[in-house]
Amino acid sequence: MPGGDWTKPRCEYGAWGTRCGGGAEKASGSVTRPEPELQGPAFAEASSGTIAFTVARMRLEQAYPQISFRWRSRNWWARLSRVPPECVHLEHGSDWMATFIPDTLYLRGKASVRRQPARPEVSLCRECLLGELERELSQHRGRVVAFEPDGSAFTQYFFVGTEEFSDAGLQPEVAQAISRRLLQPMGDCQACHEAANWLWFSKEQIPSLDEVGRIATARGEEFCARHGAEKLCAAFTDVKDANLFYVNTPYGDAGAYVWI
Ligand SMILES: [Zn+2]
Ligand SMILES: [Zn+2]
Repeated sequence: MPGGDWTKPRCEYGAWGTRCGGGAEKASGSVTRPEPELQGPAFAEASSGTIAFTVARMRLEQAYPQISFRWRSRNWWARLSRVPPECVHLEHGSDWMATFIPDTLYLRGKASVRRQPARPEVSLCRECLLGELERELSQHRGRVVAFEPDGSAFTQYFFVGTEEFSDAGLQPEVAQAISRRLLQPMGDCQACHEAANWLWFSKEQIPSLDEVGRIATARGEEFCARHGAEKLCAAFTDVKDANLFYVNTPYGDAGAYVWI
């Protein structure tokens, strides 16, 4: 778990329940969901009481045609208790699961939809998650700086666009260092010689986001989208057990995949 200032954003994720001030323990199952899964168009109300924007949400089958979901996690009781649908592989428990909320970014605890219609929040086993990530990441054309997570400590892995660095709670010096790396010219993918758009940092190169100096100078590995996606999926595969309560997917022209 990165120490120092970078742990602060966790506490701004008020909606994430018990995580504030905690150590490096895994997330327990009792996470307060930031918002219910809604089918069809829904209205989000701003604090002023006026309707600020419309969030269109995709139906489950349409959003995840490749995944089979447990019937029990989709019935009225599951919806009422705001438990997200689970893939069938989680039926008998699993050492590895993740809450996938692909189109939503949390800005100091507030949900901000980055892509519409937004796919609903779901709980996935590793294989189902990696299937979704690999397909989507390998098609993403924007620039990505990605940090390999510390498998023994991470509870969230999410993408933040450059413009949201500050609102998402990144420390200014960290945000500045990552932004600079995103602006640097990239060469070819080191796996296939296509133009690279991913800059990958292993956890040996950058153990935590507190290491601003290393973010500025670490060499990193350059990959095309396809091999960047592969690299990330391989890193997740190396993690023996995990309970991630937030994973999203990249959006926009440039940003960073970070872990806490
Ligand atoms: Zn599954
Ligand atoms: Zn490549």
